[in-house]
Parts: sequence; structure tokens; C-alpha cells
Amino acid sequence: MGVIPKSLKTLTLELQRLPGIGPKSARRIAYFLFTLPEERLNFLGEAFQGLKKNVTTCDFCKMLSDTNPCELCGDPGREDTTLCIVADHMDVYAIERTAGYKGRYFVLGGLLSPVKGHGPSDLAIEGMLKRVHQLIKKQRGGSKLEIIFALSPTTEGQTTALYVKEELLREYGNQVDLSRVAVGISVGTDIDYVDTYTLQEAIKGRSSL
Ligand SMILES: [Zn+2]
Repeated sequence: MGVIPKSLKTLTLELQRLPGIGPKSARRIAYFLFTLPEERLNFLGEAFQGLKKNVTTCDFCKMLSDTNPCELCGDPGREDTTLCIVADHMDVYAIERTAGYKGRYFVLGGLLSPVKGHGPSDLAIEGMLKRVHQLIKKQRGGSKLEIIFALSPTTEGQTTALYVKEELLREYGNQVDLSRVAVGISVGTDIDYVDTYTLQEAIKGRSSL
């Protein structure tokens, strides 16, 4: 490794720490970056610095944002009647891409996982209860706030949903309606190929035609 210039070596080692990048890819990216014009590298450097300097967390939904409140919480056109609970920021982006949901969001900041050592204190439970309270106050005519759980259909997702559900029911039992996104068969899949668990869930979560 002594023949490799120090800066290239440092960059390679840093890149290697990124998710999904092994030593070989890290080396290739480092050499590629070296071939770029200096102004592109400066632009990249500014983008890296801006990540911490310009990105903030929305007080209302805990989503990463340029502003606080974020664009979604600050949008008066969104419906205050539904709150969608997700584990991660990326889940909000995914749901927004569908353009089929017009309500509010809350980002828990992860899932409960005894294996990974993630307990309730690692999730934004307090913030979520506060947000639910704010939205309950906006409901009119005795309507309940609809809370949709959009958590992964994994053991971690189910454990988290159960925990959050109990917290919500204890605090706001008769003021909220809880639901979860349907779990089931992917569009374009033959039923024959679907695993038993997914099929069971799909039958449970059936909707009328
Ligand atoms: Zn927000």
C-alpha cells in the first residue's frame, strides 16, 4: 500500500465505510474522483459540508428538511385528518412518490429490535404522541384522527407497531382510529409463487371489489 498516494488511500478507506461499498469499489471510486476536474470536486465537497450545515429535523414530523417546519408540515393543503407513521425518512419519500396520500407523516426514527439493541428510547415516541395530540385538536365534529401504520411487515416492524399502538391507545384510545397499510401480493405476481405468510396476510387484508 506504500506506493499509493496518502490522499487516495485516506479517501479509499473513508469510502469503504459507506454502506454497500467494498474495498474494490472504494478504490475504483477514489480513482474516478481523482480524474474529475477540480471544480466538480469542489462542488462535491460543498455538497458534503452542506449535509450537516443546511439540513435540519422538522419539529413536527422528525423528517429531515431544509426548513423547520418541513415543506409537508407547513403545507396547508395537506389533510390533518390522517397521520402516517413510518420508520424512516426514506419511507416518506417512497410514499410521496405514489402521490396517493395527502395526509401528514411522522418518522419514528427506526424500529424496535432487541437484536440490534434498539429500544423504545431510540424511537421518537414522545414526539409522536405530541404530534398526535396536535392533530387530534384539529379534528372537527367528533371525528377521530386516522393513524396509518406504514411499517415493514417484518418481526421488527410488527413489534414496533404493537408497541406504538399500545402507547397510542393508552393516551388517546377513543380519539384515534388505527389502521395499517395492506400486506400482500406484489402487482404482477402469480399467486402460485407467493409464500404462505404473505398469502395469509393478503387474505386477511382483503378489500371489497
Ligand atoms: Zn415536518
